Amino acid sequence: MRRLSILGATGSIGDSTLDVVSRHPDRYQVAALAAHRNVARLAALCRRHRPALAAMLDADAALELERSLAGSGIGTRVLGGVDGLVAAATLPEADTVVAAIVGAAGLDPTIAAARAGKRILIANKETLVIGGALFMRAVRDGGATLLPLDSEHNALFQCLPPGYDGDAAAAGVVRLVLTASGGPFRTRALADLAHVTPGEACAHPNWTMGRKISVDSATMMNKGLEVIEAHWLFGAQRSAIDVVVHPQSVIHSMVEFADGSVLAQLGHPDMRTPIAQALAWPGRIESGAPRLDFAALAALTFEPPDLARFPCLALAYDALAAGGSAPAMLNAANAVSVAAFLGGRAAFPAIAATCAETLARLPNRPVVELGDALAADAQARQLARQILDLPPDAGGVPLAA
Ligand code: NDP
Repeated sequence: MRRLSILGATGSIGDSTLDVVSRHPDRYQVAALAAHRNVARLAALCRRHRPALAAMLDADAALELERSLAGSGIGTRVLGGVDGLVAAATLPEADTVVAAIVGAAGLDPTIAAARAGKRILIANKETLVIGGALFMRAVRDGGATLLPLDSEHNALFQCLPPGYDGDAAAAGVVRLVLTASGGPFRTRALADLAHVTPGEACAHPNWTMGRKISVDSATMMNKGLEVIEAHWLFGAQRSAIDVVVHPQSVIHSMVEFADGSVLAQLGHPDMRTPIAQALAWPGRIESGAPRLDFAALAALTFEPPDLARFPCLALAYDALAAGGSAPAMLNAANAVSVAAFLGGRAAFPAIAATCAETLARLPNRPVVELGDALAADAQARQLARQILDLPPDAGGVPLAA
């Protein structure tokens, strides 16, 4: 029996995880659930899964949750604030932590889970993008086990040799190939992009996801962040990580070996497959995802990414090459610009333009400890707000707050 702490339980990944978990009550039990401020949803999940602990970042929401559960007899302890999230991530009764908070807020609890030596199923890509070196050190020092949930990294994990330790040469690995759907604007006239709406940007052709990552898919910043993620997860050099556009999202990524062999992982685009793979690893369980019907697949096609259409992808490669605080600054500027776009305060092309300007105007500094990443995050958010002419509190809570 594995006992899970699910951070970001009310979101899209949280939902898919709980769907898989509910199919296997004999194997998985929910020990803790955490979210930001969606009280109604978290209360419903607590009633259904009866965790020992529920945490909400928003202290008022935590109080409301406590009131809502009072007298229900389910005995769930409720905590608020970052300390509550960290308590959920390090709960002694939980052996497995699903890191599925969106954004930089996932950093603290995910690092805490690593230090506590948990088995971490990681979806929160910002942890790796902002604090990759620090997080991977915490994983090693804490003796944690890291299993990627992002479908591309999960695919790479499945294609790499068992026990792969980041030594590409020893394993005969020459290239990691991340597939990208190209999102909803892959064939849209470039001139139209200035007028696309948040609704159009969030209407992903193949995947159902949260709004932030959906916009990141439309700009292909998501793929750029995934390149940085792959670098940290698999110890791959920038030059050994390629991106290919594959609009059908059936091949989730590929590994090329020295002898010319290429291994790919295929599946219906449904996050329950990578989630079930990571939950059961090294075994396999039923996920609930539909099976691939090869006879119905008309074609699997591939094309190179168009960097004029998707400048965010090039920005991410550049930030990885620059190292230091550049990835953290890119992530922060992107978070502010995406929030502004979703709130109707910036046009779609302003996302890439703001990221580029933020990186060009701020100095790149070394990231030796978490405080360095936090400072870079705060500075980049501030400048991005200024560039977009937003009020100082727009675009999410600064990481350092
Ligand atoms: P959603 O927006 O659907 O859900 C986000 C979750 O995080 C919610 O539970 C939300 O709580 C919680 N949350 C948001 N802000 C905070 C905060 N400041 N503190 C604590 N909790 C917070 O996101 P997704 O599920 O789509 O994505 C989650 C992560 O997984 C992201 O990093 C994303 O990039 C990554 N990912 C997602 C994939 C997908 O298919 N959705 C695929 C691969 C990776 P509340 O509801 O209370 O606001």
